[in-house]
Amino acid sequence: MNKNVRKAVIAGNWKMNKTRPEAKALLEELKPMVADIKNVEVVACVPFTNLETALAVTEGTNIKIGAENCHFEKSGAFTGEISADMLAEMGVEYVVLGHSERRQYFAETDETVNKRTVAALAAGLKPIVCVGELLWERECNITEEVIARQIKLDFFGINADDLKKCIIAYEPVWAIGTGKTATADQAEEVCAFIRATLAKLYSAEVAEAVTIQYGGSMNAANAAELVSKTNVDGGLIGGASLKAADFTTIINAAENG
Ligand code: PEP
Repeated sequence: MNKNVRKAVIAGNWKMNKTRPEAKALLEELKPMVADIKNVEVVACVPFTNLETALAVTEGTNIKIGAENCHFEKSGAFTGEISADMLAEMGVEYVVLGHSERRQYFAETDETVNKRTVAALAAGLKPIVCVGELLWERECNITEEVIARQIKLDFFGINADDLKKCIIAYEPVWAIGTGKTATADQAEEVCAFIRATLAKLYSAEVAEAVTIQYGGSMNAANAAELVSKTNVDGGLIGGASLKAADFTTIINAAENG
């Protein structure tokens, strides 16, 4: 990453894992392991039911808490949904939006990702917006078209100041939860393409300021090489964020890289 202009962000995406006692135990284990981390923003994005516990356990530490989704309306008849204001009021700082599992299993579209991103920013949250191509799209050689389309639609109407508050997570869908990691060169190529796309849509200065993570089977063994790349500013980590030792190794790779 370019440390002169950006700080690495390593965010765990716990998905639908951990009861409250399990969440407490994992964060208690993690706290001392990352207490000396200075150059990396450490984030744990946890299920809604764990937010209050996670915020209490990490109070006064360098671990920030995020949610895994939010709705785009402020309030109303949306049974089962959680608004951005509800999260912000609790003290939640980050929210994952447009994760491929939301797109694949819950009919999330670029239009709803855009609406959720706008709502999250209005509530003062920092969105972690996920983009990425399917295996079939990569094989058909349209990765850049797919990513450019997602970037244009997901950030439609969002101004430069707000864009700088967003994190973009490049997550090739074929690498999520599969054990198949993009090579460091593949990750760098697409993260650099995202930055070039932002430069065209906004400006070079704005593009340089935006944090672009890689996500997709990042683990303790491959993190150092991935985060060594100029345009890879950290990672969004699923499975490996559920083990404090593995997550800490990834954080240390970004801290020392
Ligand atoms: C994710 O959930 O965003 C993710 C990258 O998962 P995994 O690290 O398990 O592939």
